[in-house]
Amino acid sequence: PPPGTPDIEIARAARPRAILDLAADTLDIPSESLIPYGHTKAKITLDYIAGLRTRPRGQLVLVTAITPTPAGEGKTTTSVGLNDGLNRIGLNSAVCLREPSLGPCFGMKGGAAGGGRAQVIPMEDINLHFTGDFHAITAAHNLLAALIDNHLHWGNAQHLDVRRVSWRRVMDVNDRALRNITLGLGGPAHGIPREGGFDITVASEVMAVLCLATDLSDLQERLGGIVIGLRSDKSPVFARDIGADGAMTVLLRDALAPNLVQTLEHNPAFIHGGPFANIAHGCNSVMATDTALRLNDVVVTEAGFGADLGAEKFLHIKCRQSGLRPHAVVVVATVRALKMHGGVAKGDLGIPDPDAVRRGTSNLQRHVTNLQAFGLAPIVAINQFSGDTRAELDAVRAACDAVGVPVALASHWADGSRGSENLARLVAERLDAPPPEVRFLYPDSMPLPDKIRTVAQRVYGAADITLDWLAQRGLEDIAAQGYGHLPICIAKTQYSFSADPGVKGAPEGHVLPIREVRLAAGAGFVVAICGDIMTMPGLPQSPAALHIGLGPGGEVVGLT
Ligand code: ADP
Ligand code: MG
Repeated sequence: PPPGTPDIEIARAARPRAILDLAADTLDIPSESLIPYGHTKAKITLDYIAGLRTRPRGQLVLVTAITPTPAGEGKTTTSVGLNDGLNRIGLNSAVCLREPSLGPCFGMKGGAAGGGRAQVIPMEDINLHFTGDFHAITAAHNLLAALIDNHLHWGNAQHLDVRRVSWRRVMDVNDRALRNITLGLGGPAHGIPREGGFDITVASEVMAVLCLATDLSDLQERLGGIVIGLRSDKSPVFARDIGADGAMTVLLRDALAPNLVQTLEHNPAFIHGGPFANIAHGCNSVMATDTALRLNDVVVTEAGFGADLGAEKFLHIKCRQSGLRPHAVVVVATVRALKMHGGVAKGDLGIPDPDAVRRGTSNLQRHVTNLQAFGLAPIVAINQFSGDTRAELDAVRAACDAVGVPVALASHWADGSRGSENLARLVAERLDAPPPEVRFLYPDSMPLPDKIRTVAQRVYGAADITLDWLAQRGLEDIAAQGYGHLPICIAKTQYSFSADPGVKGAPEGHVLPIREVRLAAGAGFVVAICGDIMTMPGLPQSPAALHIGLGPGGEVVGLT
């Protein structure tokens, strides 16, 4: 594309194949096993998926990245480009991604369907309502909230402590004004007054549950196991105690089925689930990944944010729970982001500065070493931007050579699969080697505070952690309730290895402060919150929504 062509224009110029034909040709799925949503999107039926369980799984490739900066890394773009590249060199490959949230689309970040010549289509559908999964998750989440307040109103048979109801409400819009609200005002006919609030749908435990569930009965079991609050003796009250799990499962029945779309180059893309990588585990659904692996020799999947958050949780939570294991892992880096890690301000990124790139590679090397600690043998992909200079690209190559890690320059954003062929060949070589022996950094049996300390020290380079009194008590209560075996999901800024977003590069010796802990018993992890992580984002001063509208032909303009 000529420089400056918006992603949406490239996407719209593409001629998508009818999804039923694509599914038949590339995945051999009969049309009666697909539920079409229009001509270019379809869900795969749960019955068909159940029938695949005896097939062997293909090989899984994880795409992760260096610590994000406002300069952008392009994990989704690279996942899509790598998948097209693998298909180009003759492998049978699919890509698995998360569904975008409306929050970032209308806020700051824009959509999440890739970019340039490495995108999934139909781009505006995928970025907006898609197949309605997020609406179903929002409805199921809020149904539980309504049932809780109704339970309080009609006598509170479960003796929920009104001050200890932890279940909030959600919607998929950035709206800071709803973070903290008062419910039930207006007198006895209108419920019990109490404090509440809204989170964004992608931060909902229902989202994490949907992404980790393996079938409808597992989904219902997990929904029933959600802790909605405590009694005054601090014993937990579960969603099933107030009878909510059946109706929630009904609302989510269709949403549990993975969605199939295509890349610009007509290769299969499974897009399903979209949990935040800070408060949740940040990976697409187990249903989609597993289904894709039964239908393809190779599956490329992306984990959110940098490898310290995304890959760590992919391994410790998603892989641990599902039995999935990556055979290869790709770390995406850009010259621009490495420059920022080397101390260059965003406004100066246009000035060539190989020395800054060299300094910034400390961040890349730390992520590489971390992945090696999990037993993996990472490959580095340099996602090429048009302004990158030869000297800067050589600085990244030299840093990879210094630690003996293979590296490929990839220009899929500009060139499609022609630009990712070299990367695809490196990945294919790794897939020809025996699978790595993936090691988790902590066993289930390790006490919860030690699990947090292990991740902080071995992944973040921290000297130690501090637990606020509330967090300390919280972990003790969670262990006493019988959840001490669960993995930890650390909620931390994505912009640094430390809890301070301003600290770039590869900091050492810092202390990770744990402010609060939350039990996500249905999803199956314990969230440890560092610093001021937001579960309901706000809109920036000039949100993307102000530039989005319909063009003269009724087409969507301004979506990026
Ligand atoms: P991530 O998944 O890491 O958040 P994305 O793949 O969604 O990042 O990319 C973010 C934005 O950056 C997209 O708008 C995409 O078009 C743009 N982008 C990605 N790679 C490149 C590149 N090589 N050159 C220019 N823009 C790019
Ligand atoms: Mg992404």
